[in-house]
Amino acid sequence: MMSTAPKIWTRETGLVEKRDVWSAMRRGFRGRCPRCGEGKLFRAFLKTADNCAVCGLDFTPHRADDLPAYLVIVIVGHIVVPTILWIETNYSTPVWLTFAAYLPFTFLASLGLLQPVKGAVVGLQWALRMHGFDDNPPDGIPPV
Ligand SMILES: [Zn+2]
Repeated sequence: MMSTAPKIWTRETGLVEKRDVWSAMRRGFRGRCPRCGEGKLFRAFLKTADNCAVCGLDFTPHRADDLPAYLVIVIVGHIVVPTILWIETNYSTPVWLTFAAYLPFTFLASLGLLQPVKGAVVGLQWALRMHGFDDNPPDGIPPV
């Protein structure tokens, strides 16, 4: 239902329901609903469920897009690059060992982090009431 009266923004408007950013991100990281921390956030590897089976929170308003992949590159890169530099500076490992160790590690670390990081991003967006996660949105924002 669209209200025609302009909404007046006060401090209290934003305080209707406290959403803690860190606990929401932690719950999302564990693949759980950012609001209740119980229901499953994902129905497939990177597909979020439509809503929380426990508290009913609608997950569809999230817009994680490319941010999880970007963050995973930043995180894994900051682990892999200094490690490789340190090992190569201190030990001269054979090339085959280099590739046999770094490539699978990079691949598995990226794969393993994608879902938790995406969950954390969805939790962040929910906690900050971004996109459709604001149940009391200001007027004049066109639908996506
Ligand atoms: Zn829930």
